[in-house]
Amino acid sequence: MRNQLFLFVLLLALSSFAQSFVVPKLPYAYSDYAPNIDAQTMEIHLTKHHQAYVNNLNKAIKGTMLEGMSLEEILLSIPPVEADAVRNNAGGHYNHSLFWEILAPKSKQGACGSSLNQAIVTDFGTIDSLKKQIFSAAMSRFGSGWAWLMVTPTGSLKVISTPNQDNPLMGLCEDRGIPVLGIDVWEHAYYLNYQNRRADYLTAVWDLVDWSKVSEKYDAAKSNTNLRSRLNSPTKNKKKGQ
Ligand code: MN
Repeated sequence: MRNQLFLFVLLLALSSFAQSFVVPKLPYAYSDYAPNIDAQTMEIHLTKHHQAYVNNLNKAIKGTMLEGMSLEEILLSIPPVEADAVRNNAGGHYNHSLFWEILAPKSKQGACGSSLNQAIVTDFGTIDSLKKQIFSAAMSRFGSGWAWLMVTPTGSLKVISTPNQDNPLMGLCEDRGIPVLGIDVWEHAYYLNYQNRRADYLTAVWDLVDWSKVSEKYDAAKSNTNLRSRLNSPTKNKKKGQ
């Protein structure tokens, strides 16, 4: 009994120190991404922009039922038409973490795995037509946002774009899926080096995509049938007032 009480008090104490979200460490040095992305842009992007999303996310969830939940669970819980600090900053943290994960300097990149390679052929025909779709999604995104390659609830690949820091895991996203590749098209991602030339930035950042990482994410998304089935929820069919 005393032991149980001790355990209870210990758990209570631990739960009051719920882990805050932190900015991940970059796998490479800031300058390793140059010349495609300059070192200063990498550093400001990570230590100022991404850090601000993390700080504001931690602030927004403190003392709410979201505190202590995984980032993925928070994103899944974000309901339609919600526009708040959790949506923007949980999205910002997730999206940037994925972005850093899939970028690598040319000499460190691995090859595309056979399963992803086959899926690209099935769903897009060639890697070049996939590239065209992603570039078109990224170029036509008005203002700030992201272009995504995602695994749909049924397991196929699809290219979409979302505004601001939204992503296809969110309940409010019309076209849902598990993102496996994301391209940041906010001006802060490229302005120092490319100013208004988004197309030049896209060409440069495309060359930094580490397809072995995208493949890992693809295989994980394909086998995560539980998460894919949760994305099937018919939120997009809900009409106003229902
Ligand atoms: Mn960004």
